[in-house]
Amino acid sequence: MTTLESLDLPNPELTPERAAAIVLEHWGLEAVLDEVGSSQDQNFRTTAADGRRFVLKIANPYWRRAELELQNAAMHPLAEARPGFAVPVPVPAVDGREIVAADGHDIRLVTWVEGQPLCDGRHRAAATWRGLGALAGRSARGLAGFAHPELDRPLQWDPRRAVEVVAAIGGAAPPADAPLVQRAMAPFADVAANADALPVQPIHCDVTDYNTVGPAGRAPIPDGLLDFGDVVRTWRIGDPASAAVSAIAHDGDAALRIALDVLAGFHAEVPLTAAEADAFWPLVLSRAAVCALAGSHQARLSPDNAHIARTTDDDWGIVRAAVAVDRTVATAAARVVCGHAPWPAGEGLAARLRDAGAVPVVVAGFLVPADRSLTAVPEAGPPIADADWPGDPTPPPVPVGRWGETRLPDAPPGFTAPPTLHLGADLHVPAGTRVRAPLAGRVARVDARAVVLALDVEPAFARLAGIEPALAAGDPVAKGAEVGRVADGASPHVHVQLAASPDLPGLGDAARRDAWLAVCPDPSALLGADVSVPAAPDRRTQRQRRERAVASPQRLYYDDPPEFVRGRRHVLYDAHGRPYVDAINNVAVIGHAHPAVAEAAHRQLRLLNTNSRFLYGVMAEYAERLAALLPAPLDRVFLVNSGSEAVDLALRLARASTGRQDVVALEGAYHGWTTATDELCANGVDRPNWRELLAPHVHIAELPDPYRGRFGDDGPAYVTSLRAELADAAGRGGAAAFVCEPLLGNQGGVPIARGYLAAAYAAAREAGALCIADEVQVGYGRTGDDFWAFAHEGVLPDIVCVAKATGNGHPVGAVVCSPEIAEAFDRAAPFFSSTGGGPVSCAIGLAVLDVIEAEGLQANARAVGGRLKAGLERLAAEHPVIGAVHGRGLYLGVDVVRPGTREPAPGDAMAICERLLDLGAVVQPTGDAYNVLKVKPPLCIDDAGAGHLLAALERTLREGW
Ligand code: PMP
Repeated sequence: MTTLESLDLPNPELTPERAAAIVLEHWGLEAVLDEVGSSQDQNFRTTAADGRRFVLKIANPYWRRAELELQNAAMHPLAEARPGFAVPVPVPAVDGREIVAADGHDIRLVTWVEGQPLCDGRHRAAATWRGLGALAGRSARGLAGFAHPELDRPLQWDPRRAVEVVAAIGGAAPPADAPLVQRAMAPFADVAANADALPVQPIHCDVTDYNTVGPAGRAPIPDGLLDFGDVVRTWRIGDPASAAVSAIAHDGDAALRIALDVLAGFHAEVPLTAAEADAFWPLVLSRAAVCALAGSHQARLSPDNAHIARTTDDDWGIVRAAVAVDRTVATAAARVVCGHAPWPAGEGLAARLRDAGAVPVVVAGFLVPADRSLTAVPEAGPPIADADWPGDPTPPPVPVGRWGETRLPDAPPGFTAPPTLHLGADLHVPAGTRVRAPLAGRVARVDARAVVLALDVEPAFARLAGIEPALAAGDPVAKGAEVGRVADGASPHVHVQLAASPDLPGLGDAARRDAWLAVCPDPSALLGADVSVPAAPDRRTQRQRRERAVASPQRLYYDDPPEFVRGRRHVLYDAHGRPYVDAINNVAVIGHAHPAVAEAAHRQLRLLNTNSRFLYGVMAEYAERLAALLPAPLDRVFLVNSGSEAVDLALRLARASTGRQDVVALEGAYHGWTTATDELCANGVDRPNWRELLAPHVHIAELPDPYRGRFGDDGPAYVTSLRAELADAAGRGGAAAFVCEPLLGNQGGVPIARGYLAAAYAAAREAGALCIADEVQVGYGRTGDDFWAFAHEGVLPDIVCVAKATGNGHPVGAVVCSPEIAEAFDRAAPFFSSTGGGPVSCAIGLAVLDVIEAEGLQANARAVGGRLKAGLERLAAEHPVIGAVHGRGLYLGVDVVRPGTREPAPGDAMAICERLLDLGAVVQPTGDAYNVLKVKPPLCIDDAGAGHLLAALERTLREGW
């Protein structure tokens, strides 16, 4: 067998001059050579005078000539098969040979394969891993008919030889990791036992992140395959297994997901059999163990080699990550990916249990569903069944937490993906209730509060948890015998679960529902009633429905958007119960699902909700409260439904007051979707060709942007542009209004250049225009120091528009102005909005203001926002891809740039957001170039939530996106 000892031979050490002489002598090429790395050989990038590129490979003497011939021979059929990726091809020397002997070495010249190795960069997107699997699949297809005598040489990387290799070098494992090897190798016996069912063919056997290259940039799909040193005839499934191991190295926490991405890519190219799906995870484990042992072995031989020591640590990390995955579930999931039944042995189990006369595990009466799901509503449903057991003639109903429910995680969010899929049924019976064996069997294991029975109806295990066990491991059990009693505690219940293995937990990963519920089938047969929950439509179905029915301009965030089903404070939960810190919802200003809002709405909805032209007290009360938040003379309130309506109405007020039509707004602005506000939209994202569409009565002034603007932070300098626009308007009868956000929210919280707003308001007024402050995004305490962003600029607007936060998600908006402006409008026409300012909206509006005050949310915005900004600034100092951190309080912007410049990097910004979503943080870009990450969470966010956001961003910046 090609053994590990041979790897200790030193790499060849030819000088570049000598190598160039060899290329000239044997290949007749004048070339420039520079050395590129190799673990065992010596490689030179070889650039010929005509620009063609090659690799000169000086072989380590441990390679036999026949092995080098095999490598060369394997490249030809692959290249000829045009597999959709590039491979190096041997270049014959002038004498026609592909291997030349010189200076005691066998030397080859092969064509250069362009691209970046996949191993560069820690984080890689799922598409890359599927691409790696697909490349492995196409390589296996291309090599299927290849023949060569050396294909059957003994090779330590041949997956069939894992046991032999472990026997040979198992002693190299660090003592702490030795038990890992045993655990990793345990499932190999099942593969060996079923070896005859596994297709065998020549495979590359090393389609890994370090042997594949792809284009630079985000989510590269590998399109080049190198290094044919391990080509061997063996199990075909060895190829995706070894590819998966290299991919797991990039994120051990997501080991199974990544491995399955690779497998899915392979299966799409080369459909895999059920036996191969079964062998996949065991071979991932054995390959991981062999790699780690080989590393430790080499480290022993070269104790001073720090690089080997480091990579070996990483290799053991892969073993730990893979061993931590439950193998029963991993195999079921691999079967799902390959289109096979996840647990064939479990099919028909329910019928077999019933045929065997299973008895309910507790004596219970009516079972009623106790909805403990993520989307639980408080009311209990109707009884679901009468348990088939003669107990108390009028037994109390027994609430049942059902099988297949996705639950809200118990613990406060750690923002990882917690197990939430309920794999059994919980019967909430009194502590002390007797729990019986549903069928005869044997006690397979006993935990602190659980007994697992191996039932006589094979291959089922029954896990009865939440009980004080009355039996010991190994005890035989008769049908109906007492197994234990329901334990005392906060919520006594017995959890009844069927399982394919005695080691499965009570909750699984809802994202792999098919696999988990297959290996933990419906336990209804053990309860005498149907305790299952039908699966909700999956995300893909939801998205297709939406795409069919909802008009397409209403875009979604994200490439593959999560489905959020619940919110609480600054946390959003997706349909799998995964928590995300919500850094984008300035609408939910006091936090998601705030009980004060729910209560106010519920109460008012049950009393009265009518159009706004009746007399009801709550409207006046809310208008008074809003007016009291603004300085005099801003004390007249109009109530509407949205920000767009608020700004639209503000424009009408200004026009009525001044008798003019024209409006000046700032470049980059967004003020709403109505016709009048859309006319002001001057940014390339929301209105790509705004310059051509600009109406004659709309004038766009230069953005006073201290970061990218022409005059930096010199505010008054930008007023020249405003004056020019006002003068333009004067030629058409004059401007009615100058409208802007007092903190540039749409730019990502960019502050207005110092002194601009005061000078701009003065210029506007001098020209006879009114000043409108759009506080829709930035007002309501968000900036921390002030309730309104205009206060920070020391100005007083004529009209203030507010929405979003006002209703915490319920549609409420307001326009506040002076009595004179309101009266001028009144002289022209009355105004009403049917639902704007309706009783429910006003009740909610009041509740929001109460909570902001009672919970000190403005002060929280200042404190948490200040610390968050400091953290973001620390990241900016370390990572040049962040050009600046904008904003105040909890309206912040992280400006993503091309390092070393202020040039926006929208591609990176979007990719960072996608990666942050993976890591449990919801952030989106904004700004004219869509490159500023807007950070504007609910104002109730705490340091833990902000800390998670920072940690996720830090990890993204460190590992790549
Ligand atoms: N003004 C500004 C500054 C906004 O950001 C928005 C919405 N993003 C609006 C107005 C319009 O508000 P709405 O979406 O509630 O109509």
